[in-house]
Amino acid sequence: MGRGPNTADAGLVEAGITLDRGFVTVNGRLSTNHTGVYAVGDIVPGLQLAHRGFQQGVFVAEEIAGLNPAPIDESGIPRVTYSNPELASGGLTETQARERHGDVTTLVYDLAGNGKSQILGASGGVKLVKAGGPDTDGPVVGIHLAGSRVGEMISEAQLIVNWGAHPNEVAQLVHAHPTQSEALGEAHLALAGKPLHAHS
Ligand SMILES: Cc1cc2nc3c(=O)[nH]c(=O)nc-3n(C[C@H](O)[C@H](O)[C@H](O)COP(=O)(O)OP(=O)(O)OC[C@H]3O[C@@H](n4cnc5c(N)ncnc54)[C@H](O)[C@@H]3O)c2cc1C
Repeated sequence: MGRGPNTADAGLVEAGITLDRGFVTVNGRLSTNHTGVYAVGDIVPGLQLAHRGFQQGVFVAEEIAGLNPAPIDESGIPRVTYSNPELASGGLTETQARERHGDVTTLVYDLAGNGKSQILGASGGVKLVKAGGPDTDGPVVGIHLAGSRVGEMISEAQLIVNWGAHPNEVAQLVHAHPTQSEALGEAHLALAGKPLHAHS
């Protein structure tokens, strides 16, 4: 539906803080144009999500404490749409991956091959986006899920993407049967060239 920053009456302009269409302009370390003044959460351009705001708050606290925290990679922030079926994403979309990495390889694993999804009557799929062509090794840079309850699978997906795991590294990890998370393992098996249970 669309939401915007609520900064109009906060006195930021009067304090000399730079805004852009109501959003507070910050650098990669969440500092405004005023040294010692930071911004976090929905007033910072980007994903307007609670967990992003939490992490930015932690970042600024650590920055002020002199702990030199690692900058937050916006593309690594997981996104879930709590609809039915659910949508969940971590990392880059296929289009973003092509812009950043050039050649990419994608794979869609159909939940029809996943036992727990069959038990639940859930349809949908797991889409993997790997940097590099089909014959080259490269990290998985994006994972996109669609289907009933797939939001619960985003934690493993964001670990894979944020740690830069390669398909064959995830393929050798054992996933419990029958779980929907098994579909993530199966998708990586398929992308590593050794599909196990595949139905469409
Ligand atoms: C309907 C809805 C559903 C959502 N669902 C999800 C979800 O499922 N998952 C998710 O991750 N995110 C969700 N979000 C987004 C999430 O709520 C926001 O990203 C998050 O609350 C942003 O945190 P924030 O601290 O930046 O801002 P806020 O939580 O809005 O806090 C800002 C605070 O500043 C106060 N304030 C404003 N102006 C002033 C002023 N001049 N002086 C003093 N105080 C002031 C406000 O009263 C408020 O308490 C949802 C948002 C909405 C509206």
